Amino acid sequence: MINRRALLRAGVVAGGLLAGVTSLGTAAFAHVAEPSDDTPPDRRPSTPDEAWAALREGNRRWVDGTTTHPHQDAARRKEVAQKQDPFAVVFSCIDSRVAPELVFDTGLGDLFVVRTAGQTIDPLVTGAAEYGPAELGTPLVVVLGHQRCGAVTAAAESLHQHKKLPGELSTIASSLRSAYTRSGGDVDKMIRVNTVDVVSRLKKDKLFAPRIAKGKLKVVGAYYSIDTGEVTRLV
Ligand SMILES: [Zn+2]
Repeated sequence: MINRRALLRAGVVAGGLLAGVTSLGTAAFAHVAEPSDDTPPDRRPSTPDEAWAALREGNRRWVDGTTTHPHQDAARRKEVAQKQDPFAVVFSCIDSRVAPELVFDTGLGDLFVVRTAGQTIDPLVTGAAEYGPAELGTPLVVVLGHQRCGAVTAAAESLHQHKKLPGELSTIASSLRSAYTRSGGDVDKMIRVNTVDVVSRLKKDKLFAPRIAKGKLKVVGAYYSIDTGEVTRLV
């Protein structure tokens, strides 16, 4: 494991060698490269349970109105400029009211975020979700459905009325057909069924399954309340 402070100190040397090339750049680097030795290390959650706990704590702050907006300053931007190591993948809807970094009170370099309408999935989306766990060892994937999902509502209406949605919106409706048929016309139930369906698909993913079996990865499904801001685990 490479020590972050050691890297920063190495950066000071490199910055010194580069002095004179651009005084502005060196000054900016020096600002980041001088953390006090008293500063507690900013430890990234490394297990699935630690990662879920960190997301739950962030969501609690969001619900309570006590957000700290971590990792959202220039120092963090520089810290992760050359390398990222997010602790979770969040796969959510495109809905403007469900921004993962906000609802989990996280910042730059903390999350991989994949978003599609109604968090519907296909091979391209699966590939995007696979990247973190497969390449960087990201320990958690959260599939996040949400209250009053417009995509799921539109799909339910289209399927109910046998009226095809325009353009590729019809592809979204097709992707939600299975959840629709098992929800008895209840849109909120359909949102939850679809979320659990996506979790089931991802758990069978050939890159995920071996990591799940070894305890290195968890895929969880959750539901976001637009009214309260609270994330509730479904599966
Ligand atoms: Zn939605």
